[in-house]
Amino acid sequence: MNATAAHSRNNHPHLRPLGMPCGWIEVIVGSMFSGKSQELIRRVRLAGIARQKVQAFNSALDTRYGKNHIISHDQMKVPSVPVKSAKEILQKIDADTQVVGIDEVHFFGDAIVGVCETLADEGRRVIAAGLDQDYKGEPFVATSRLMSVAEFVTKNLAICVVCGNPANRSQRLSPTRKRISVGAAEKYEARCRRCFKR
Ligand SMILES: [Zn+2]
Repeated sequence: MNATAAHSRNNHPHLRPLGMPCGWIEVIVGSMFSGKSQELIRRVRLAGIARQKVQAFNSALDTRYGKNHIISHDQMKVPSVPVKSAKEILQKIDADTQVVGIDEVHFFGDAIVGVCETLADEGRRVIAAGLDQDYKGEPFVATSRLMSVAEFVTKNLAICVVCGNPANRSQRLSPTRKRISVGAAEKYEARCRRCFKR
């Protein structure tokens, strides 16, 4: 087999010998306060209960709660490793890890897509959670691309704090114009498309 054929084979998990694990990507997207991290934590915990080897990662940029945990707004948490870039996940993954949780994928930029694909191609279950839209209602490219290559997509909705309809947008309440502004309840609220102000 020449080098090109070997490379091609490595990129097609279904060509592996029977019995080798086949990985996949699950993406959990939605607005702020839609329960994305909570759902990620739930899935990671269930894998741990089944004695699967789990590693979770979060962005070192996300300083909201604690550095070494993924924590939901309702204080559910799992231990995680903070990383500065998507590639650092590949450096810190253990060879025998079966399940990989990644929170706030939109923090990582496009590089996270290739990293998730590599992890899944290696036979791992990848569970990635993140915002699908920024505070202007524009799609995050990394999350959009992950949704298209993932096997499973879960889109969560919050409840509009103004009118109570299903909410898929994050209204920024503070004046900063940075695309990513770390914060929770005091800086954002969930809004439906009618109540969202650009
Ligand atoms: Zn509304």
